[in-house]
Amino acid sequence: MIYLDNGATSFHKPAVVRQAMLRAMDRCANPGRGGYPAAMAAAETVFRCRERAADFFECESQQVVFTSNCTHGLNIAVETLVKPGARVVISGFEHNAVTRPLHTRKARIRVAGRRLFDWENTLEEFEDGLKAGADAAVFTHVSNVFGYILPVEEMAALCRQYGVPFVVDAAQSAGTLPVSLKKLGADFIAMPGHKGLLGPQGTGILLCNRLPEPLMWGGTGSESENQDMPDFLPDRAEAGTLNVVGIAGLGAGIGYLQHKGIENIYRREHQALLRCIKDLQKRGLRVFSGDHQSATISFVSNGDCEKTAQLLAESGIAVRAGLHCAPLAHESAGTLETGTVRISFGHDANPGQNEALYRAIAKIAG
Ligand code: PLP
Repeated sequence: MIYLDNGATSFHKPAVVRQAMLRAMDRCANPGRGGYPAAMAAAETVFRCRERAADFFECESQQVVFTSNCTHGLNIAVETLVKPGARVVISGFEHNAVTRPLHTRKARIRVAGRRLFDWENTLEEFEDGLKAGADAAVFTHVSNVFGYILPVEEMAALCRQYGVPFVVDAAQSAGTLPVSLKKLGADFIAMPGHKGLLGPQGTGILLCNRLPEPLMWGGTGSESENQDMPDFLPDRAEAGTLNVVGIAGLGAGIGYLQHKGIENIYRREHQALLRCIKDLQKRGLRVFSGDHQSATISFVSNGDCEKTAQLLAESGIAVRAGLHCAPLAHESAGTLETGTVRISFGHDANPGQNEALYRAIAKIAG
């Protein structure tokens, strides 16, 4: 199978990820719950991953909170910053993992910047939104549908200028593009462990620049006599037993990226993207491409998008079709009715994938 659905999750994980997980299954008990060797091995596994993530995302290790996915982290961040009825500025390309928690809190949402690949429009409208008065801002680093890389550094600077706390959704950028808590100065950055970071499903990270409100209450292995959640990081946001095996895999995934260099991986992914754009355009398809695009691309097929994805699957190519849990992004791009077919390259991008995709598209068109 040619796997081109890395926007959903990375699939062909590096061998070191599997090895780390198997090792953890054999050696690790519960971290922070005992002083015997298997508990200590678990604590050390978690500690190592936390340190590695802190190094990778430029923050202190206690600012790294382990979550079960990106949605989990976003919910903690929104719970902390968005009180019922609060005014929140978001981009025109947000995922349901952002819009649904906001909707639940009856936030007064202002959507800023709906033009794809247009930094000027994004920044102008975003600043207008902040100027009009905002209690918080939440924005994605990269659109999961179109691969649009938003000008997050400039958006972060605007938030700081207007004194608006903000959350960055790094679901599609962590492990692919540089993400720095220190540089962005975000209140929170949420990310999955199972996409660009190459860890397994069931892992995620929330980088915290402030003390979060708990989303769950329970055991942490610390301050057991206290019936409130501890008021320090990361314990405040990590109730219950951690996914030690998953965290072992996530740590190995981050280590792999550090070893290979994300800029080298990104270069390969981007080459694949550029070739893919050309190939799809050659077939006369409506392709969404522009400056500031990562390794994800959407197109609208002449027939039904779901059908096209199905035919591609029958040719051994895995892509995703539909709204990709981001109806707002489709509304912005005018594809809410049709949805799109999405191709997302991963760390293993190579010319063979482009060739197979081109052949399959040509066969379907024929
Ligand atoms: N935000 C964006 C932009 C995404 O693409 C996704 C998942 O595709 C999420 C949030 C949610 O991530 P998770 O499935 O890890 O909760």
